[in-house]
Formats: sequence, structure tokens, C-alpha cells
Amino acid sequence: MEKRFIYADNSATTKVSDSVLGEMLPYFTEEYGNPSSIYKIGRSAGRAIETARERIASVFGCQPSEIYFTSGGSEADNWAIRGAAAKMAAKGKKHIITTAFEHHAVLHTCEYLEKQGFEVTYLPVGEKGLVTPEQVENAIREDTALVTIMYANNEIGTVMPIPEIAEVCHKKGVLFHTDAVQAVGNVPINVAEQGIDMMSMSGHKIHAQKGIGFLYAKKGIVLPNLIYGGGQEKGRRAGTENVPAIMGLARAVEDACADISEKAERITKIREHIIDGILENVPAARLNGDREKRLPGNINISFLGVEGESLLLMLDMNGICASSGSACTSGSLDPSHVLLSLGLPHEVAHGSMRLSIADPITMEDGDYIIETVTKVVEKIRNMSPLWEDIKNKKQGTERLLSFVSPIE
Ligand SMILES: *Cc1c(COP(=O)(O)O)cnc(C)c1O
Repeated sequence: MEKRFIYADNSATTKVSDSVLGEMLPYFTEEYGNPSSIYKIGRSAGRAIETARERIASVFGCQPSEIYFTSGGSEADNWAIRGAAAKMAAKGKKHIITTAFEHHAVLHTCEYLEKQGFEVTYLPVGEKGLVTPEQVENAIREDTALVTIMYANNEIGTVMPIPEIAEVCHKKGVLFHTDAVQAVGNVPINVAEQGIDMMSMSGHKIHAQKGIGFLYAKKGIVLPNLIYGGGQEKGRRAGTENVPAIMGLARAVEDACADISEKAERITKIREHIIDGILENVPAARLNGDREKRLPGNINISFLGVEGESLLLMLDMNGICASSGSACTSGSLDPSHVLLSLGLPHEVAHGSMRLSIADPITMEDGDYIIETVTKVVEKIRNMSPLWEDIKNKKQGTERLLSFVSPIE
């Protein structure tokens, strides 16, 4: 098969789309006024931001005044969790419920709060990578300040039952936040109907630029100031607004949330084809995360006897951009906390690959991925001493086989 270039890392970031770029450009070169300025090009920039807020609010079923622009998902998560924690601590509530496999923007914020005297419950996510409303209900206490649970996991793509979890929180009178960075554009979201009190999202995962996102906070939730200064974002996050990025974000949200079911169906078909193809061709492999309750474009597979980084480098040489479960960015060799939270041994978690596919992927691209992954895994295994031991059923390796498909 002829070599192709396939960007299959859309959960890491995405290409800025033409429509988003087109929406942004005038705000660099024509409508470049400071939105707080009094003359025409300032006023029009200010108006544009408010229109963007309205457009976003109408997609998610909330009021424009409930949308606060941020620099992205991490900032929104920090603001929501630290803000809620500070407010609730004043009422004597210092317990937070989250899951073991949140994004680090949530987990590390919770760890910081633990050092500040908060108690955090990290709900286990089971072998399939899901949490249930019952788990949340059982974890809620008198002093629970906040429940924060991601809508969809960024590594294994599992989608949580968010409306049901929100309902449990409300029944018990507890504030509910969700990191919906991966869910936006893949799952229909209406914050009012789904009972979401606070929600984080990020532009660069849905074809807007990096460094823009928002926090939705339901009316009545008074967020503490994040940045002191001017009156932007109701004075709670000062600093001249990033007008082009905000305009691009509005367009990206509209584009991503139009025809979700049609897009999901199309992408899911290609995903299923790739998963089936790889699992049929490659022995001693496993799909991570629930097969049905997952994002349309997420494929996360572990291969026994394969080292994640080698796999990614060889896929790159073949024109495929993918990512692995091991945290190579942090310079540590520890496998991903998400894969470990599923109960996978280090040896299995280490040989993992995440493909996050999105338009304009085709079935033919899918065939190329299947063929390339099959070839590359075989090549790496032929050089792997661990694979040799596994094949020879060397002592200590049988346990690993129970996590993957059979060798023959
Ligand atoms: C990417 C991501 C974030 C961080 O968003 P940034 O805009 O890069 O800060 C947070 N949560 C999840 C689930 C993500 O996938």
C-alpha cells in the first residue's frame, strides 16, 4: 500500500479549520480595536465578543452571562475546582469527589487541594473505564463541596453517564462540575437539560486555536476572581480579550456541534473497522475502555511485548501520528495513570497506542492504519526479549496473557 499521511491524534490537538480561520482573520487586521475602547473598531470588537458568547450559549443551552472565556481547558478546570473549593470551605465543606482517571488539570488541582486540607475521594473506574451514578451517590457526604467528573476520557474515550451523575448530585444538593473537553462535538450537550452546574471546554480539541476555551458556570455560582485588573469577564478574569481566538472558538463550537449524530455514525464505522482489523491481525492485544460507551474517534489498544515509544516512532516513519499511554512528555517512564486505573499491569500499559481519528479520515486510511500497525508491531516484537519470554511461556509471563487476546 502506498504511504499516506494520517493525523490520528485529534485528542491531543486539532488542525485549525478553514471556517475558523476565516472567522478569525478580520479581527487581526480590521476589527483590531480594544473591546473596551470607545471608538467604532473598539466597540465592534466588544460587540463581536458578546455575539460569540451568545452563539456558544445557544449551542449548550445556557445564558451568555454564564460563559467565561479562559485560556483553555486546564484554566477552566483550575478555576472551577479551586473556586468551588474556596467558596465551600467557607461553609465548612472540604470534601471533593472525582475519579482516578481525570485529566491532570483536574487531578493535580485536587492533589494541590489535599495539601490545603481538603479530602479527595478518587472513584475507581473499573476494568471498562466507567463510573456509575451509584458510586457517586455512595461517596457523597455531609461535607462534600464538589463532584468533578469528566464527560469523556481523553485517553480511552469512555463516555460517562453525566446527566445521571448530575441528578444524583442535585438530589444531595452538591455542586457538579464536568471537564467536557473531549466530549464537546462528540456528544450532544445541553447544560440545563443535563443538570451541569459547571463545565470546562477547550478550543484546540475542536479545530479552534490553542489557548482559548471557556468555563460555563450556572447563574448563582459566584466564581472567585482569577485575575485582578480590568473589568473583563465581569472583572473576574482581567486582561484584554483575545478577540480573534474567541471568534474562532464560537465558530468551532457551532461547526463541531452541528450534525453530531451523522458525524458520529460515520467516524464510528471507521473506528470499528480499524479495531476489528487490528485485533484480528495482531495476537496478544486488547482494546482499552468500554467498546460501546466511547467517543466515536477513540481507539486505544495495548500490545504485549511492545514498547509504546518505539511503536509511535515507527508509525511516524510510516506517516501516522498517534500517541501512547506512557507519559513521555513528563520525562517519566511511568505508564499512563488512566491505563493503570483500569487495573492493567505496567507491562501491558507500556505497549499502548491511542489513535484519535476525525474528519477527513476515510475507510482507506483505516485500511492503511490496520496494515501499518500490524506490520510495525510484528517488527518490534521480533526484536523484543520480553516477547520471546512470553512466547516461550517463561515463568511470570502467563499472568500478562490473561489481559490480552490469545497468542495463537
Ligand atoms: C486537552 C484536555 C484538557 C486541557 O485543555 P487545554 O486547553 O490544553 O488546557 C483538559 N481536559 C481534557 C479531558 C483534555 O483532553
